[in-house]
Amino acid sequence: MSESSENRHACNCKHPLDTTCVQSGWQPKNGEPRTPPIVESTTFKYTSSEQMSRLFDLSESGYFYTRLSNPTNDVVAQKICQLEGGTAAILTSSGQAANFFALFNICSAGDHIVASNAIYGGTYNLINVTMRRMGIDCTFVHPDCSEEELEAAFKPNTKAVFGESIANPSLMVFDFDKFAAAAHRHGVPLIVDNTFPTPVNCRPFEYGVDIVTHSTTKYMDGHGSTVGGAIVDSGNFDWMAHADKFPGLTTPDDSYHGVVYAQQFGKGGAFITKCVAQLMRDFGSIPSPVNSWILGQNLEDLGLRMRQHVKNGYKVAKFLASDPRISWVNHPGLEGDKYYERAQKYMPNGTCGVIAFGVPGGRDKVSSFLDHLKLVSIATHVADSRSCILYPAGTTHRQLTEAQLEEAGVGIDLVRLSCGLEDADDIIADLKQAMDATL
Ligand SMILES: *Cc1c(COP(=O)(O)O)cnc(C)c1O
Repeated sequence: MSESSENRHACNCKHPLDTTCVQSGWQPKNGEPRTPPIVESTTFKYTSSEQMSRLFDLSESGYFYTRLSNPTNDVVAQKICQLEGGTAAILTSSGQAANFFALFNICSAGDHIVASNAIYGGTYNLINVTMRRMGIDCTFVHPDCSEEELEAAFKPNTKAVFGESIANPSLMVFDFDKFAAAAHRHGVPLIVDNTFPTPVNCRPFEYGVDIVTHSTTKYMDGHGSTVGGAIVDSGNFDWMAHADKFPGLTTPDDSYHGVVYAQQFGKGGAFITKCVAQLMRDFGSIPSPVNSWILGQNLEDLGLRMRQHVKNGYKVAKFLASDPRISWVNHPGLEGDKYYERAQKYMPNGTCGVIAFGVPGGRDKVSSFLDHLKLVSIATHVADSRSCILYPAGTTHRQLTEAQLEEAGVGIDLVRLSCGLEDADDIIADLKQAMDATL
């Protein structure tokens, strides 16, 4: 079986997104720069105040203030939009801002969200603590819950369903079909954070997802240099067909000249236009054009990089699984993994380069193992060109008791390894020498 996986990585598979990675976004006209210019300007000059008024009315498109839109940010958003196969997109200053905006764009005080509980800790906290303080209720479900359990989580005031395509850090693969069917039965959109597989390995819109979010901080930037986020709309959700649930999109926005977003911008543009006109205007979580430009450059080789991350993740996971000193290994690309079949269905080109595995012996033993690593660095980061490793129970979750750790799905023995772009044999050699010294 490993044969087929090795072959898959070595084969001449088609990579149609490689072209999109490089070519989409900036389309220079005659004599213009080949790479997108960094438009480091807060504001834009006009000779007629009447034209400026039309821009403010959203009856004409154009730039007037970078908090609302900026040419460099737009070029990079357009690249991500095309990679996901969406109709509109915006960049945000972080992945946290992207997930908050995507939800708050359609949820207000008194509303309710159904969310998978296997999601990034920061997003869990956003939904479970901060958004509750805003009066937005949530029911969390296990991603592998039965259809009956999922059905029971919905309420009359439910406005969105949220999940992660590959969960950070548990590496569970999302059951797109089950969640999309339930969301649409209840007339609400499915929002999925697609950070770990990236569109190169998973295109959620093909599986019924309506809105995709990203922490571009991870593989999209891929070099640990810029924090950022993105929201992409599939243009498939029909807001007008569920007009009573989404008054913010289907009735006049008094704070914006009475515009009715779903009418004026249609299914393809309403969600993102409202996100810009209201949320960016009022919260202002925009990325700096310089950071967007760096993200845009790094996106050009996303396809190439993801193939190496996937290949390394597979080889290293196989090594760890074959060594009796390691208690268990989770990696959805590895044959026999609990999520292998589902990953094959939704991400046939591969998953990501992240592995979770168990190191026995308690906190001190695990910490000592990590301290002996030379190539792999200890960092609170994942999905980076340089391999990095994190021991949650000894760092980010160290205040929790053993029982609390189990409940949070972060066992005392769990180590999260993010395989970078190095030669896989060098990563394996480093792990092996640290294991030999400590386990
Ligand atoms: C890191 C991460 C986030 C948060 O993104 P930031 O860019 O750090 O704000 C959200 N979702 C997932 C899956 C992540 O890994």
